[in-house]
Amino acid sequence: MIDYFVYVTVILFGTMIGSFLNVCIYRIPKEEDIVVEPSHCMNCKTRLKWYELVPIFSYLVLRGRCRTCKIKLSVQYPIVEALNGIMYGLVFCIFGWDSVYTLLLSIIYCLTISALIVLSVIDLKTQLIPLGIIIFILVMGLATVIIKFVESGRSMDVLLTHGLGFFLVSLFLLLLFYATNGGAIGGGDVQLMAVAGLLLGWKLIILAFLIGCILAAIIHPIKMRIQDVSRVLAFGPYLSLGIAIAILFGKQIIGWYIDTFFI
Ligand SMILES: [Zn+2]
Repeated sequence: MIDYFVYVTVILFGTMIGSFLNVCIYRIPKEEDIVVEPSHCMNCKTRLKWYELVPIFSYLVLRGRCRTCKIKLSVQYPIVEALNGIMYGLVFCIFGWDSVYTLLLSIIYCLTISALIVLSVIDLKTQLIPLGIIIFILVMGLATVIIKFVESGRSMDVLLTHGLGFFLVSLFLLLLFYATNGGAIGGGDVQLMAVAGLLLGWKLIILAFLIGCILAAIIHPIKMRIQDVSRVLAFGPYLSLGIAIAILFGKQIIGWYIDTFFI
């Protein structure tokens, strides 16, 4: 019973953070202040009432339109809110909260996935990965290493695993970046794989990279056919998806792989 109460609370809290992520997605590329300004309609600048700020619910009640000027609101808002809520529920379901250690890791993973959502939408819209988000994930990575280091009784193995994770995929991508003069990969992608590698460790960052490449190879050609988008591949969202999957299911996937092919 308590479990369900925690899940519902975590998911609701996730959708509220999701609202805040929408603000970040809108304001970070414009370099507007994120917290100070009250929320307003992007079109008519009317300040939003409290009941227009309830995640998902407001969008449904207002039927996706601004109450004042009736402009159509982007479907991105409820999608980001719902996605973030579901992800928080999933993280707590997988990693739990039964000790300080697991609770801290669950919180770090939730925040990291939120950062990945913001990064993905901004990259899709602007083809840029903001440095602020990279630094945020770097801090999450450092926190993960410190927590695991303490929990493991100061095992050098933790430092090695995560330190190697920082360099492994990112150095490979950095070489690719210089070899192709930034044509095949963006500088932001290199930074992302470095900080995510610190958080995940070397095994899981390789997995995340492979998943990202496979998804890009499958989804991008379909997207180009449907939307007639430019050839420029925003790699960030695919890498982010790979990283999120590696956070959530990486240990199981690697375990399954070893069981299937090596035993
Ligand atoms: Zn409006």
